[in-house]
Amino acid sequence: MDSKTDAPVIYGGNAKPNRSTKQALWRGMKKTCPRCGAGDLFGNYTAVREACDTCDLDYSGQRADDAPPYFTMLIAGHLVIPLALETKRQLDPPLALQFLIWSCVLALLIWLLLPITKGGLIGIQWANRMHGFSDTGEDQTGADPSDP
Ligand SMILES: [Zn+2]
Repeated sequence: MDSKTDAPVIYGGNAKPNRSTKQALWRGMKKTCPRCGAGDLFGNYTAVREACDTCDLDYSGQRADDAPPYFTMLIAGHLVIPLALETKRQLDPPLALQFLIWSCVLALLIWLLLPITKGGLIGIQWANRMHGFSDTGEDQTGADPSDP
């Protein structure tokens, strides 16, 4: 440990301060700013704000794109399908009732999970300096941010 800054000494340079992926993931999943954990990440449902209202972290560098719906469907499917199959095996309700119940459960679960997965992914992107969260503020993948 460096006694002046309490930062771990990394041989070969310690130019970039470490960002905890686990902490940023958790803060993002709580829909708060991955850096300070106090400001709101989203304005309206999953619409990402321009910047943190507490620490001024610019959120425009996030590139969550299609990953949050992918992980949301993956998680929701793995929760609902076993429940639906077990309900069918144990109770064998009418097909229309099964469709009504499980489509409502799936819709509710997706509505609840989507902001959580999106916040978590933005937290991971910030912690790993991905895309526009790099130190220079530029997307280092060379992707055009205006291209959807
Ligand atoms: Zn913040």
